[in-house]
Amino acid sequence: MTEASFHRGSVQVYLGNKSGKYPDGNQVVVTGADQQVAFDTPLVARSLNGVLEGVDMVILGHVHEDHLAGLGQCPHVPVWVHEGDAEAARSWEGMTRHFGYSPDVLQDWHGRMVRDFFYQPRPDALSYTDGHVWDLGGGVKVRAHHTPGHTSGHCVLLVEPESVAFIGDIDLTGFGPYYGDATSNLAQFRHTLNAVRDIDAQVWVTSHHRAVITDRDAFLTALQAFTDKLDQRADKLLGMLHHEPQSLEALVAQRLVYPLGYEAAFVNDVERRMIEQHLRELVDAGQVRCVDASRGLFARA
Ligand SMILES: [Zn+2]
Repeated sequence: MTEASFHRGSVQVYLGNKSGKYPDGNQVVVTGADQQVAFDTPLVARSLNGVLEGVDMVILGHVHEDHLAGLGQCPHVPVWVHEGDAEAARSWEGMTRHFGYSPDVLQDWHGRMVRDFFYQPRPDALSYTDGHVWDLGGGVKVRAHHTPGHTSGHCVLLVEPESVAFIGDIDLTGFGPYYGDATSNLAQFRHTLNAVRDIDAQVWVTSHHRAVITDRDAFLTALQAFTDKLDQRADKLLGMLHHEPQSLEALVAQRLVYPLGYEAAFVNDVERRMIEQHLRELVDAGQVRCVDASRGLFARA
């Protein structure tokens, strides 16, 4: 059986390629006296010889293609997902509402999800809510902390007694927070980034790249840098509005989040949703105003 990269008490972490850099992710497995559970099933799960075959259930921290890719390794075990993301796990129709991309983008994306992420809906997925506790036996428990923003059902999964928090796509990467889907929410993400400090953990495990952090100061430093990306994006957007009023589509073409030249089918849709949310926030703060409603032009206030 594959050896875990990190091990503490009941918790084992198996790092994906490049510490779980997207499209891969990091696999967490928790073993109690009675039950064994996997948190998400990223691509790496497919090459962990024998590790997932023994699990009794999968708890998804949220629904995105890269977190479901290894579900085929344990097709007959219950899959749990927060009620906010449950429909996305259960059907492709639910997934299309979750992403909210335009129809041609979704058609292309479906093909990529099947080819690259082995996507299959799970109509039998069970739903949980904030505060749900799974008792795995022998004093090992998992508690769900609802942390929306990245998706509406994103949760931190806290393992006791080890105080290991699987923080998923609060991933602390240099890219910064992602809130580009239909159920994503910038305001909720800001609240979540504040609230996650108060979760009483000693170890933090991200889905991507950062992987395992065992020092609270290091976690808080990385969390602050990740949070700062939000205001950096707002400042960049204000800069884009500096010289003349801009329409949303013109701002999308200039790119707020992805580098110019980065091409993927979903990029325009994601840029549009993230820019829209920053514009709304800046309008509410009195820093931006709509100067021509008929042409949809925004300018600095
Ligand atoms: Zn995600």
